[in-house]
Amino acid sequence: MEKKWRSNNQNTLHRCLLGVVFGMFFVNWGFAPHKELHAVAITSLPSPIFSFFKSHQAELVSRATDADKRKHAVDDEAARHYIDLDHFTDGISPCSWKDACVLFSEDTLQNRGVLPWNIEFVYRNLVNEFSQDTLNTKKVIRLCADLGHYVADAHVPLHTASNYNGQFSGQIGIHALWETHVYETTRASWPPRKINAYYIKDIRTWIWQIIQDSHDDVNEVLLKEKTLREIENAPFGYGYRTRGRTLTLVPTPEFCKQYGEAMSGMVEQRFFSAAQAISSIWYSAWADAGAPQLTNQLKPEPSSIKNELIRILQDLRKVDQEHDEDGL
Ligand SMILES: [Zn+2]
Repeated sequence: MEKKWRSNNQNTLHRCLLGVVFGMFFVNWGFAPHKELHAVAITSLPSPIFSFFKSHQAELVSRATDADKRKHAVDDEAARHYIDLDHFTDGISPCSWKDACVLFSEDTLQNRGVLPWNIEFVYRNLVNEFSQDTLNTKKVIRLCADLGHYVADAHVPLHTASNYNGQFSGQIGIHALWETHVYETTRASWPPRKINAYYIKDIRTWIWQIIQDSHDDVNEVLLKEKTLREIENAPFGYGYRTRGRTLTLVPTPEFCKQYGEAMSGMVEQRFFSAAQAISSIWYSAWADAGAPQLTNQLKPEPSSIKNELIRILQDLRKVDQEHDEDGL
């Protein structure tokens, strides 16, 4: 595998370096998309729970990336964000954690990633918290933030494959390219979309379907990047960008844009599907808990959801300007 990787790349050292940089710091939807996904999800909630979520939006949005931050401190956390479906060579059907452990052993599952069972686990915890006589608001918000994070990860094709960062195909860095850089460079041009939370009848089947849909896109994600990089007069792949005092190698905006177009807007589609899925799973957890009255509410904070979205878009524009100033 490594031999093939070398022969396919003229600048091995360069991409190795990129691999170290990207591999270490970018292995999930970036922080900005995760936060925006939570903000967009809130806007599509139905009225019985909208005001509760709106009043806690600041904490919900800021905690959207807690699950990623925990990876450094909690041993088993990393495996909760992915599943290497390709390692289940005889396939795997939606099943309970208990049944999966009997079929494959817990160690095997931890090695291949436990994303679908983890989503189900956090979901059950959230239903349980919503069912309490006295609502523990802090706990509910923390669980909603985590649940939203894992559902967002399930929408990323490269979270469902062992070649998650292109390390087996000479495409190291593709993880961040797909879920962070394409988002950063194209987000401002995405037209607004109307999404609505819906009730999920069968959580397990629903989760596995999302993961299977993501997995079905893996080949295209890899192929389109390779094809674009190899065509004559391709836009230069990587350039330096200054952020604060840090000089970083990132894919150029032109490359990101062309890659996004080559995939026919897949990143945009998965983003809005993820936002709708997040609001739907929050809504379903509340409904499965018996649709309790959410009375323990804080006063809405002065910054509205609209302001939060505007702030995120302004940050993105700043990133775009930095690209331009740096001549990328
Ligand atoms: Zn994650």
